Amino acid sequence: MKNKYDAIIVGCGVAGCFAALHLPKTAEILMITKSEKEESDSFLAQGGICVLKSEDDYDSFFEDTLRAGHYENKRSAVDMMIRSSADIIRELISLGVSFQTKDGELVYTREGAHSTNRILYHEDVTGKEITEKLLQKVCAQPNITLTEHTEMIDLLCQNNTCDGILIRTKTGRLAAVLADNVILACGGIGGIYENSTNYPHLTGDALALSLKHDIRLKNINYVQIHPTTLYSRKKERRFLISESVRGEGAVLYDKSGKRFVDELLPRDLLTQHIYRQMKKDGTEFVWLSMQTIQNLDIKKRFPNICQKCLMEGFDITKDLIPVVPAQHYFMGGIEVDLSSRTSMNHLYAAGETSCNGVHGANRLASNSLLESLVFAKNAALDITYQQKESARFLAAAPLTERKLQTYYNIRLSDYLKPEECLARNKQDVWNEIKRENNRKEMAS
Ligand SMILES: Cc1cc2nc3c(=O)[nH]c(=O)nc-3n(C[C@H](O)[C@H](O)[C@H](O)COP(=O)(O)OP(=O)(O)OC[C@H]3O[C@@H](n4cnc5c(N)ncnc54)[C@H](O)[C@@H]3O)c2cc1C
Repeated sequence: MKNKYDAIIVGCGVAGCFAALHLPKTAEILMITKSEKEESDSFLAQGGICVLKSEDDYDSFFEDTLRAGHYENKRSAVDMMIRSSADIIRELISLGVSFQTKDGELVYTREGAHSTNRILYHEDVTGKEITEKLLQKVCAQPNITLTEHTEMIDLLCQNNTCDGILIRTKTGRLAAVLADNVILACGGIGGIYENSTNYPHLTGDALALSLKHDIRLKNINYVQIHPTTLYSRKKERRFLISESVRGEGAVLYDKSGKRFVDELLPRDLLTQHIYRQMKKDGTEFVWLSMQTIQNLDIKKRFPNICQKCLMEGFDITKDLIPVVPAQHYFMGGIEVDLSSRTSMNHLYAAGETSCNGVHGANRLASNSLLESLVFAKNAALDITYQQKESARFLAAAPLTERKLQTYYNIRLSDYLKPEECLARNKQDVWNEIKRENNRKEMAS
């Protein structure tokens, strides 16, 4: 690893990878990930990715996104996402991503709160299909260095300008790395919750650092709970039973086998109904039946869900499946504009860690992969076209401990205990979520 890069990208989910692929091939790029490169939430996306399939669907797609978001969405961001979607899908296909087709035509499915079928999918592992193909391209590009088990533990910044990051390597070594621009693509915050569908290492690190350095955040208390994850007594990442299962006709039953809700309500409303029913029934879950799905081979359509349920002792073709809501997605984040610029110079944020306003107060299903891709690309294009400044770092000599303290107020001794740093960061994010909740309650 060098001391200085043209760009550093923190995170290698869809947002990080797509940004990397849209930076110039002449740029030297460092990508880091806290874990293995395949361990990102992008790999877990099951349901699919939305697309504007024809101009006729624009108004309805726009309205569905706004209605799900309680009309708190930023309209220009929603418009940009929808208008860019067909190009993004074409690009993904050209990069080797395959979506379900029938007779040579793309097949569209549907999820809750969508008024029509507009979601492309690859079995029930759409995120894996997309991210694997993007990672293959990233790894094949000689200008990109991707290092695993490397954690961003602070930002190097002065005068509201980001100059790089402080990292902890796999061996525990601390190193300062400079960059003309940094893109934060660190994903969500599920790791700070006990029950979440997210990877536990996604602990909102970029948010904790934003709080530390006064980088603007937005809607940090907007957290989506997914209504249907597989119930288990085990303390582990919650397995998602995708919304497209309900989109294809699965239904929910209370403890006496009665339907109690419209299964295609937006996620936040459906979650409320499920919690209410569990309370009424005195149960820790409700039942999901996939036997009501018509005209579909459910084992073929949902092979991943089928296999996981079987491992837990449920055959989706004949058993009822116990499901419970769990933390799933983060609508808030580091506030960014349409080019994914944060409030700090030379610092960008994209994907779930950012908040560009697309989702408002609640995300419409299958909008997040698309949103991540559109705005990660925007970040890369903005960096590409931003006015070239005369070299920001004349000498990329290693930053000594003394220089780090003088320029960036960083004392390496503060980072020697990883567990303490993590606990502090998690607590900071929690406290801010609570503060924001209180602020909003007082204002309403
Ligand atoms: C179970 C599940 C199902 C989903 N299904 C769908 C779906 O069907 N459709 C849809 O549109 N969306 C879906 N989503 C949401 C979607 O997958 C995510 O919003 C999206 O993939 C986020 O991408 P990302 O690149 O922002 O973050 P991620 O893919 O989560 O990547 C985050 C990256 O940041 C790295 N990182 C974090 N902190 C640090 C640090 N301090 N230092 C170094 N690296 C760090 C991580 O290691 C990781 O590489 C689903 C999510 C889950 C959990």
